[in-house]
Amino acid sequence: MYDVIIIGAGPAGLTASIYLRRNKKKVLLIDALGYGGQIINTKRIDNYPATPGIDGFTFATNIYNQAKDLGAEFAMETVTNIINKDDYKEVITKDNTYKAKTIIIATGAKNRHLNLPNEKDLIGKGLSFCATCDGNFYKDMDVAVVGGGRVAIDDAIYLSNICNKVYLIHRNDTLKADKEEIDTLRSKDNVEIILNSNIKELIANNNLEAIKLDNNKELKVNGLFIAIGQVPNNDIFKDLIDLDEYGYIKSDENCTTNIKGIFVAGDTRTKELRQLVTATSDGAIAATKCINYLNN
Ligand SMILES: Cc1cc2nc3c(=O)[nH]c(=O)nc-3n(C[C@H](O)[C@H](O)[C@H](O)COP(=O)(O)OP(=O)(O)OC[C@H]3O[C@@H](n4cnc5c(N)ncnc54)[C@H](O)[C@@H]3O)c2cc1C
Repeated sequence: MYDVIIIGAGPAGLTASIYLRRNKKKVLLIDALGYGGQIINTKRIDNYPATPGIDGFTFATNIYNQAKDLGAEFAMETVTNIINKDDYKEVITKDNTYKAKTIIIATGAKNRHLNLPNEKDLIGKGLSFCATCDGNFYKDMDVAVVGGGRVAIDDAIYLSNICNKVYLIHRNDTLKADKEEIDTLRSKDNVEIILNSNIKELIANNNLEAIKLDNNKELKVNGLFIAIGQVPNNDIFKDLIDLDEYGYIKSDENCTTNIKGIFVAGDTRTKELRQLVTATSDGAIAATKCINYLNN
């Protein structure tokens, strides 16, 4: 029986394991892909304190090694269900059933993609899902943002202060954000809003060079920021854990869920800002809550 099973060994889950091991709790991390989470393929992280310029793999490996050296156990498996028993919890994978006194769900989220043929190959070569993270790489260049919600609008405003020209491309005629934000966007001289349009082609020669819209108009851009939403990895928990309308686990800064002894950390919970710094912060809080729960 483990004290804590952490589902997901991204930055949130790994950080939680460090805090738990420093408190001598018996910890198992289970991750479908090994360790590291979304950040693993990122070439450069510039917004995490004390590590400017670090690449995602090194960043994730540093946390992984720290957790492993402290004695955290790892299993590379996909969790398919969790069961809340009276005195303990069960975590089910294809091949195993693990038992624990508490669980931390840190399953993160994945970005919704446009589903264009060469999209995956261009991630990090002109395609980005994070303006705050990657915007500076496109200083004084022309870029586009696709999406019409608050994140897309915030991204376009943010990029307008760095880039030469920003196109905001949205599939229908309504931008969904606060009036104030939309007004700010419209006040930017270097932003062009293109409504009722979809991107039908990514034109690239190793790196992204242009995008083609469904009216066949071609826009020469060095960067395309995709902000059409994220999909949390929470479907398997929906019968037990309260989710919001978008599938995120309902929680707050305390990282608790509706089930006693089950905590949540990182991108997979309801929150305003999904970044490394908030994921690692959640990991620390969820672990501390777990420790209090176990000690009481
Ligand atoms: C391309 C890219 C670049 C980014 N750049 C930056 C940046 O520069 N700075 C920054 O602050 N943020 C950046 N981010 C955001 C940052 O990566 C996330 O905020 C952070 O990784 C969230 O950590 P997490 O641990 O909550 O979730 P994740 O990193 O999503 O990790 C979740 C883990 O859970 C595992 N998992 C999911 N479901 C299951 C299951 N059923 N069974 C087992 N395992 C499961 C996954 O395999 C994954 O490893 C970037 C994101 C992307 C995609």
